[in-house]
Amino acid sequence: MPIFHCPLGAVFYDDEPCIDCGLCLARTEPEMVEASKKMREYIRAHAARKSRSQKIAVCGKGGTGKSTLVALLANVLRQEGYAVLVIDTDESNPGLPRLLGLSTPAAPLISLLERFSLGDRKPDASWLGAARISPESIPREFIVSAPRLKLLTVGKILDPLQGCACQMADLARDFVQKVNLANKEIMLMDMEAGIESFGRGVERGADTVLIIVEPSFDSLALAEKIRYMAEGIGISTIRAILNKIPSSEIEAKLRKELEKKQIKVAGAVYLDPQVSQAGLIGRELPAITGAHEQVKKIVTAVLSGQE
Ligand code: SF4
Repeated sequence: MPIFHCPLGAVFYDDEPCIDCGLCLARTEPEMVEASKKMREYIRAHAARKSRSQKIAVCGKGGTGKSTLVALLANVLRQEGYAVLVIDTDESNPGLPRLLGLSTPAAPLISLLERFSLGDRKPDASWLGAARISPESIPREFIVSAPRLKLLTVGKILDPLQGCACQMADLARDFVQKVNLANKEIMLMDMEAGIESFGRGVERGADTVLIIVEPSFDSLALAEKIRYMAEGIGISTIRAILNKIPSSEIEAKLRKELEKKQIKVAGAVYLDPQVSQAGLIGRELPAITGAHEQVKKIVTAVLSGQE
């Protein structure tokens, strides 16, 4: 069998039984199309349909401001009394902890795999085998925290020739599906740029996808693709957040384009010098900014299911 990471984790991780879709054995494009259709039908039929947004994947083209939006969303949610678990699944960008005002590094989840373990200690991954994982039960060595905030990092590619990020994606997908949240707990996932994570099914555990859209053709085109991908794995709450908006004219144009692509908009965040400054020097986002107030409205819209 060629190297292939089954979106159900059926081969390497025994997460779900093999459904015999044929995706891993497909040799031609028609075979692949047919097999992936079977896989999508299975995933849609088994999707956990929830009426509320509690596991939120923040997606979009590279550079649209996903990490910044994750930090802004986390800040607003904490202010509103939610306990927020942030999962950094981005394999490259290191800035999210700083935007959240967190500095002490924690062990990445990937260090549970022997190949990536830290030091000589054999990693104890037994807790990961539980059917459900509450934020409280995640061992402290993997968490950086602040009041009503926990940050867990899946892993980063640190060196050339270290290998591909497949194992990180597999680990993230399996972990995210098991996270069990109580009332007033929300999980925010800062996703890798683009759509590769959808190919690996990382977003399967999410109930909501927020697509960050900046004023550019590529960002709009990718937003449409992300909507298609998210719908394909059974996610029904999909909203765009417009980011780095310079004027009401641009906002109106973006809204019109997204309407054509059948993507609902949760709100817009305008260019904000305080946010740009924090992003530039890698420091905690200030609590009171225009962007913070705009994100408050977005949080209300997303959590209430408003359109
Ligand atoms: S046949 Fe389908 S479900 Fe089975 S291992 Fe291959 S990709 Fe996964």
